[in-house]
Amino acid sequence: MNPERLARIRLMLSLRQPDLTVCLEQVNKAHNIAAIMRTCDAVGIHEMHAVWPEELRENNRAAKGSHNWVKLNRHDSIQQAISVLKQQNMQILATNLSSRAVDFRDIDYTRPTAILFGAEKYGISTEALALADQDIIIPMVGMAQSLNVSVASALILYEAQRQRQQAGFYQRGCLLPENEQQRLLFEGGH
Ligand code: SAM
Repeated sequence: MNPERLARIRLMLSLRQPDLTVCLEQVNKAHNIAAIMRTCDAVGIHEMHAVWPEELRENNRAAKGSHNWVKLNRHDSIQQAISVLKQQNMQILATNLSSRAVDFRDIDYTRPTAILFGAEKYGISTEALALADQDIIIPMVGMAQSLNVSVASALILYEAQRQRQQAGFYQRGCLLPENEQQRLLFEGGH
């Protein structure tokens, strides 16, 4: 690997935020998944989670774009996914268009945080909402009832990025385990 590329990968690794993640529940349009992954990479998310729709299980090429840099963990159920995230002491935020949801800008994203995003048609399931700590909403005053899921994820992740930048979270040095760093350095060189 040439030294410039090696330096670029090392810098990227030093900016990764292992205590910030997203979890997609049955998001089923390949282009939306790809766009969310790209935004995850851009704000320094190392690992994302998904409960994968059946139709994408066999043919999930769309997710393979930023896949080189953002690890995708697939779970069989949303209960299992949330349980894994809770074991990591993450606050679980459900993006949900409900009256009990708080404005997404009023959340403290410097806490270990997992943000759930729902299916294009149905949103987040009642099972997932019951397990979440807080519903959050991007306020809307127009005629449309919701945003595209990848647009919603970009807005929320960049608020998290803004808060974390202000708090010095991008100056913490590399927080990824050594074996994970080595894996990415190795794969990035091929
Ligand atoms: N009918 C669905 C519902 O009632 O939730 C709309 C789903 S929306 C098209 C797809 C996903 O985008 C939602 O599950 C949520 O994750 C996210 N989303 C869209 N607009 C949002 C908003 N204004 N606030 C928070 N999340 C939003």
